[in-house]
Amino acid sequence: MRRLRRTKIVATLGPASSSPEMIARLFEAGADVFRINMSHTSPDRMRELVAMIRGVEHDTGRPIGILVDLQGPKLRLGTFEGGSAMVKKGDSFVLDSDPTPGDATRAYLPHPEIFAGVEPGHTLLIDDGKVRLTVTAAQPKRMVTHVEVAGKVSDRKGVSLPDSTIPFSALAEKDRTDLEAALDAGIDWVALSFIQRPEDIAEAKKITRGRAAVMAKIEKPQAVVRLSEIMDLADALMVARGDLGVEMPLEKVPAVQKQMTRMGRATGKPVVVATQMLESMITSPVPTRAEVSDVATAIYEGADAIMLSAESAAGQYPVEAVTMMNRIARETESDPTFRSIIDAQRAEPEATGADAIADAARQIADTLDLAAVICWTSSGSTALRVARERPRPPIVALSPNMSTGRRLAVVWGVHCVVTEDAHDQDDMVDRACRIAFKEGFAKPGQRVIVVAGVPLGTPGATNMLRIAYVGQELAGD
Ligand code: PGA
Ligand code: MN
Repeated sequence: MRRLRRTKIVATLGPASSSPEMIARLFEAGADVFRINMSHTSPDRMRELVAMIRGVEHDTGRPIGILVDLQGPKLRLGTFEGGSAMVKKGDSFVLDSDPTPGDATRAYLPHPEIFAGVEPGHTLLIDDGKVRLTVTAAQPKRMVTHVEVAGKVSDRKGVSLPDSTIPFSALAEKDRTDLEAALDAGIDWVALSFIQRPEDIAEAKKITRGRAAVMAKIEKPQAVVRLSEIMDLADALMVARGDLGVEMPLEKVPAVQKQMTRMGRATGKPVVVATQMLESMITSPVPTRAEVSDVATAIYEGADAIMLSAESAAGQYPVEAVTMMNRIARETESDPTFRSIIDAQRAEPEATGADAIADAARQIADTLDLAAVICWTSSGSTALRVARERPRPPIVALSPNMSTGRRLAVVWGVHCVVTEDAHDQDDMVDRACRIAFKEGFAKPGQRVIVVAGVPLGTPGATNMLRIAYVGQELAGD
């Protein structure tokens, strides 16, 4: 089974997609990675979903990526007398450390760390920006604000502080418990929400210790400012446009997306574009023209993956949404403009053997119109460097590690086959050709390129490139 596109699809699981049958249908329709959102999933449910996905993986024989998305330090208000209150424009509104129910003049903010990070002039947004406050006085246990945009405040509504750097970790107590459970369940990627600093990634990596790859969700302006340091530590980025559009002016989000997809291209780390890609498909079998165009834009930018949230988790048309993304990707990638845009954004190779070989492989594949670029990769790093080149033919990655296959599920253009290591160079080339044929990437008589590090199993030693014929004898196989 092979996909006929390079851009990958991430589908979030939820009430609309929590049965083995539905997961199998979403996979068939094109989902390469499944996301489990811990904001709405208990550890027990997460384990059940992981087991269902592994069942589908077993049945299809294709490695499937599982991304567990941690809730992160989502700030929330306390409760109100009668459940809610209306705040009026021009009034002052106090947020304090008093747990008694709030009213139109004050509310409880159950996060004492916030008070230390807030200064007069900072903005405070409640309920995705529906109510906007400006801080006029900041004290150790309370702050006074001025109501800029009036509205209803109610029990446990979310609070965003786009201007303030709050001195707490990106992993709340719940996140640590969820992360341990996810690592025990053998998931492949963990996404960190509301990170502010590179240290937040380092902290998570101390816990994961390589057991899962770490994706940094960029959804706060503080993280945008430190993007390149965050990218250095993270294994991938997510353009988390939902919260980003709350925490910064909406019109700035497209530029951040461009900046991030470019950075992914330059560093060779995967970038996922997320949220509201086909939002109207939550309730409609057909998306809007603007949504189709938005998905295509991410593909033209060379994003590794495009993501569905509520569309697949809670919508009425999960399968149709994945099918639609698959169709948009195939069509966009076959547009001649796509190639020229992708080529124009190519980053120069770094001065390493792996990059020199990856660059050469792309050029040779182009000159000779080869059927596939095949790479032997144990950790997946050779495949990432080849994908960074965005070669014209598909990339077939061969790895002895199932975890590598699953992690590579999110990477642009990579079809990973888990197979035992080759014995020697001849076996390496021979098996590469056989697998490319068997998986539908090359026909007998076509040529492929084989990239590897010899001796095998030495990480970071990509040093071999061979052009090989797929033998006619395979035709009878
Ligand atoms: P969420 O993250 O769906 O967990 O909020 C994505 C986003 O904010 O865009
Ligand atoms: Mn978010």
